[in-house]
Amino acid sequence: MNKFSWYEAKSVEDALSKVNATASDILGKAPNSSSVIFKAGGIDLLDLMKEGLVNPSTIVSIKNIPGLDKIEYSEQDGFKIGANVTLEELENNAVVKEKYLALHQAVAHAGTAQLRNSATLGGNLAQRTRCWYFRSIDHQCYRKGSGTCYAQEGENEFHAIMNNKTCASVHSSSVSTALMAFNATVEIAGPNGKTRSVTMEEFFVDPETDSRTENILASNELITGIAIPAVNENVKSFYIKQGARESHDWAIADVAVVMEMSGGKCNNAEIVLGAAAPVPVKAEDAAKKLRGKSINESVASSAGKASVKGATPLANNAYKVPIFRSIVKRAILNAV
Ligand SMILES: Cc1cc2nc3c(=O)[nH]c(=O)nc-3n(C[C@H](O)[C@H](O)[C@H](O)COP(=O)(O)OP(=O)(O)OC[C@H]3O[C@@H](n4cnc5c(N)ncnc54)[C@H](O)[C@@H]3O)c2cc1C
Repeated sequence: MNKFSWYEAKSVEDALSKVNATASDILGKAPNSSSVIFKAGGIDLLDLMKEGLVNPSTIVSIKNIPGLDKIEYSEQDGFKIGANVTLEELENNAVVKEKYLALHQAVAHAGTAQLRNSATLGGNLAQRTRCWYFRSIDHQCYRKGSGTCYAQEGENEFHAIMNNKTCASVHSSSVSTALMAFNATVEIAGPNGKTRSVTMEEFFVDPETDSRTENILASNELITGIAIPAVNENVKSFYIKQGARESHDWAIADVAVVMEMSGGKCNNAEIVLGAAAPVPVKAEDAAKKLRGKSINESVASSAGKASVKGATPLANNAYKVPIFRSIVKRAILNAV
């Protein structure tokens, strides 16, 4: 790892006045004397630095900025969760556990207790893919500007089964799978006091839109928090993460289902698949199978099948298709 300086940001404005790059901006570039990047919990950033992929000259720690560590909740407006709230704090929040079960489950299954103790929500959303070609300094893959996705013909068992023709990596944030299902929005602060609020679908971008990165963050922008709309007592949810084995690894497939029930019928539903495509995706065809229906095994099964409609698995990952079918069905039946 290269030497770097450390700056402790005192406010959002202070942090924004110092930073000049995202991890994607300086990915694969040699160390230079002027790249300044944010660090929150440091889990992913330090990985990227140790892998030699990112070599900032200065790290701006945003971890102690006052206010970014708050969780606010009201029955009317739902949650406002500061970007620096740790996954552990979110996991242990009683209202999340009671009313937003799928989010609680997604957070509780992300990494280990030690990781969740440091990892922040903002950093989780902005983490980079774990694709082994991307993480290898010896592979100049599509994400590093070469136009070649080595996973297409290579070791692709953990890779995307949808939208995988340009870059077959999958996004690593399983927390986002649940946040997207609850229609959360990402709050972003930019220069000159400007702020913007974007949906999770707008926050993530596919590889054809931006080959370098999975999100819309510019180098002079900071995630300040996440807002999650209020849910009533008829909203039921469930999240399932399938790993390759019983370990604390990233998902090979995960799903969050959120359904609004009324009189035994599903009024509205969102189903989000993680680790299926380069960014989390809403399985709209599957959700349509639930809307207006009483939930039973056959309806859940048809939604499971619809969730992988049009999938284009690669040579070694077709096994993911039945996994998604099965976990979507199970999540629906478990939610009600
Ligand atoms: C073994 C292991 C297993 C894991 N399993 C899972 C899993 O199952 N599911 C899952 O979701 N995650 C998993 N993770 C990933 C982990 O949750 C993330 O690395 C962590 O959440 C990143 O948060 P951080 O605060 O440490 O971010 P940092 O490492 O500090 O930052 C990550 C990136 O985001 C940028 N950044 C940080 N905060 C902000 C902000 N507020 N605004 C703009 N940019 C920002 C940084 O510049 C950096 O590029 C796992 C990690 C490990 C090591």
